[in-house]
Amino acid sequence: MKIRKYLVWATAILFISCATNPFTGKQTLALVPNSQILPMAFQQYNQFLGENKVVKGTSDAEMIKRVGQKIAKASERWLNANGYAGYLKDYQWEYNLVEDKAVNAWCMPGGKIVFYTGILPIAKDETGIAAVMGHEVAHALANHGQQRMSAAQIQQVAGVATAVAIQNKSQETQQIIGTAFGLGSQFGVMLPFSRSHETEADRIGLQLMAIAGYNPDEAANLWRRMKANSGGQAPPEFMSTHPSSDTRIRNLTEWAPAAKAEARKFGVTTFK
Ligand SMILES: [Zn+2]
Repeated sequence: MKIRKYLVWATAILFISCATNPFTGKQTLALVPNSQILPMAFQQYNQFLGENKVVKGTSDAEMIKRVGQKIAKASERWLNANGYAGYLKDYQWEYNLVEDKAVNAWCMPGGKIVFYTGILPIAKDETGIAAVMGHEVAHALANHGQQRMSAAQIQQVAGVATAVAIQNKSQETQQIIGTAFGLGSQFGVMLPFSRSHETEADRIGLQLMAIAGYNPDEAANLWRRMKANSGGQAPPEFMSTHPSSDTRIRNLTEWAPAAKAEARKFGVTTFK
């Protein structure tokens, strides 16, 4: 019977396609489990590092690592305290600064982070870096990249992941993963997150930076600087996928006290 067959399929899809976003409690689309996505993301990340100039040993590079470690720690503390211990078990955090004029930064699933030197002047200082880092890590933790891929693309990636060894994956699949998880400009495809994902990442990111000991009041200022820099001839990568609207700035200002309150639960009372 047709309807029964449909129901079986619908049920099956429901079972494989939902994961819980720990920050919102919402069910989200996850046709491909992290156990399949992460190895591909890790490989893509290593390839990216191999093809770009990684800055090592400078104070800026050290700063990216320091902030990254603090944000990672904050994520872990928050997740553990909220009943999601083990959520990051497949994560292999890495924080790299890459020599590139592009105003951009991203975090691939599994905690693979890249900051471009071009974003440093706008981030201005360690707290500004923390605001960007918190936001990008929030996208990764909330699995926004997976939801950024279309169902058809997810099926293709899943197909490749199960059918062949990871190193043999097609160019097209690499592109799908790359654009979905942050390396957009590498492939000439800018794929903005949805407005709801942006709002979610702003709110979560604000909490992460506060728990990490950074002043969440500074997030709104960071986006003000982004806004001031969004003019000019070529729209920088980060700004074209992250429009700095007045709504965003207003939200961040409004949510900062709640982020500080959240941080206090973790014994964090001073913010730099
Ligand atoms: Zn974003």
